[in-house]
Amino acid sequence: MDRSQDILLRGTLGGGQARAFVISSRNMVEEARRVHDTSPVCTAVLGRVISAAAIMGCQLKNDEDRLTLILDGKGPAGRVVATAARDATVKAMLENPQVALPVRADGKLDVGGAVGRDGMLTVVWDQGLKTPYTGKTPLVSGEVAEDLAMYYTTSEQTPSMVSLGVQVDPDGSVLSAGGVLVQVMPGCSESMIADLEMRAPVLADISRLMGEYGGEGLAEALFGELEWEILERMEPRWKCDCSRERIERALISLGAQELRTMIQEDHGAELTCHFCHASYRFDEKELRALLTEALAAP
Ligand SMILES: [Zn+2]
Repeated sequence: MDRSQDILLRGTLGGGQARAFVISSRNMVEEARRVHDTSPVCTAVLGRVISAAAIMGCQLKNDEDRLTLILDGKGPAGRVVATAARDATVKAMLENPQVALPVRADGKLDVGGAVGRDGMLTVVWDQGLKTPYTGKTPLVSGEVAEDLAMYYTTSEQTPSMVSLGVQVDPDGSVLSAGGVLVQVMPGCSESMIADLEMRAPVLADISRLMGEYGGEGLAEALFGELEWEILERMEPRWKCDCSRERIERALISLGAQELRTMIQEDHGAELTCHFCHASYRFDEKELRALLTEALAAP
């Protein structure tokens, strides 16, 4: 097994008493850093959020389904949004990617300080229904893992252990990144719960452990004695799903008035994707075609 490769494992413990997800996401986080040119603390914010999104996204049923995490904690990094699909591809953005903060007293990057604690974590499960299912919980610490554990406990009534971490090199690049999610199923034995709780302190240092063991190795070290059974192996990847067609649909949905303004005042439009910074240009003629569609829309 190549430890330098990102991996997402989905499996069960104790014959289904709990389910567990382990992600090793160094390359995916490094790509996110490159795309958004993030400061070290924002690399950690983005890395934790996309690692979590990949884990949650792989629980979707269909290819078109999407899982979106939104952290709005009023911290200096601003709003953070990440979207994942069933195949463990993710895209994400944060409002102020270059914000720098002093490291904490314990030497760790101040993720909670960057995200802020005065706000909400929103989870949107878009599974092809008319209205996507949305769960909201107040942020606990802005450290992401704790906030997600709270979301699962209060919004989905699923006791969960969440650990997420990103180690950033002094040169700014990502050394290691990853996460673990363990969810206790109804009927889980007391001894299994005790076994899991015993492992919680180890997980505090997840990014270093991930760098040392790799995803597969860390899962084995943590869960090897708990009937760890791998159900699926995936490769999590950074991938934006924007396209000219999607941007066209967004322009049409702005409405005729907005399109007329773009045509008459700006003689064209240039739109940039917030997730990957790809830019899409539309000249007057193209905008007129979209205006015709907007007018024809019901
Ligand atoms: Zn894009």
